[in-house]
Amino acid sequence: MAEDRCSTGVPSVDRLLGGGLETDSLTEIYGEGGSGKTLFCLGVAHRIAREGRWVFYIDTEGLSVDRLGAIAGAELDRILGRFLLSAPKDLEEQGRAIATACALAREGKRPVGLIVVDSGTAYYRLSLSGPDEDDARQALSVAVADLVATALRAQVPVLLTNQVWRSVREGTLEPLGGSFLNHAAKTILRFERLPGPRRRVVLVKHRSLPEGSAEFRITSTGLEGP
Ligand code: ATP
Ligand code: MG
Repeated sequence: MAEDRCSTGVPSVDRLLGGGLETDSLTEIYGEGGSGKTLFCLGVAHRIAREGRWVFYIDTEGLSVDRLGAIAGAELDRILGRFLLSAPKDLEEQGRAIATACALAREGKRPVGLIVVDSGTAYYRLSLSGPDEDDARQALSVAVADLVATALRAQVPVLLTNQVWRSVREGTLEPLGGSFLNHAAKTILRFERLPGPRRRVVLVKHRSLPEGSAEFRITSTGLEGP
């Protein structure tokens, strides 16, 4: 595997990504509920923590420790010992958690192998079409810019999950966050549900690879390639 790639632990996805996640940029994953975004993030985080590197995990879903247990098994405590977990309750708290994670990663006192923001847009979504929409967009932009700069300067891969909205006119599921997030993410993956535990991952955008797709399966202990 190339040194500038971080294996995802799912061989089919690594192949699609030319070896794994880029270590100097933000990767966005969008897709409908149940498409496997959280399980994917937990799987990558588990790998990094097992290697002894730190994972900064910003979790707006509030469920991930239990689910990490299904992946980590008896090693859960050891894995959690390498996690800096925060569970913000609104967009403002999320912004502070991201700023803290980025500052610590750039400081470089401990080896940080990954920053995860799951979901990056859940709180932002709540403000859409309301009086706070502009402020929320600004807050999200500041946080994403901080993540992008940190990935580049500290060489830490960033994984940010994004929710979707349905375009009635096009009949498609589109990511939230508009063109700003679309530009900020150097790799964009779309997760799609297939029958049963099967999922498709589509490479929508990459700096140096063509578009393509792969499949994986959800199992009781995480994700595996076909
Ligand atoms: P959301 O947008 O709601 O956060 P998500 O994309 O993060 O969704 P995950 O929570 O990662 O989705 O995936 C949950 C999916 O995994 C569900 O569809 C669930 O049915 C499936 N799943 C969970 N455990 C298993 C298992 N043991 N075997 C097969 N499928 C499973
Ligand atoms: Mg999720």
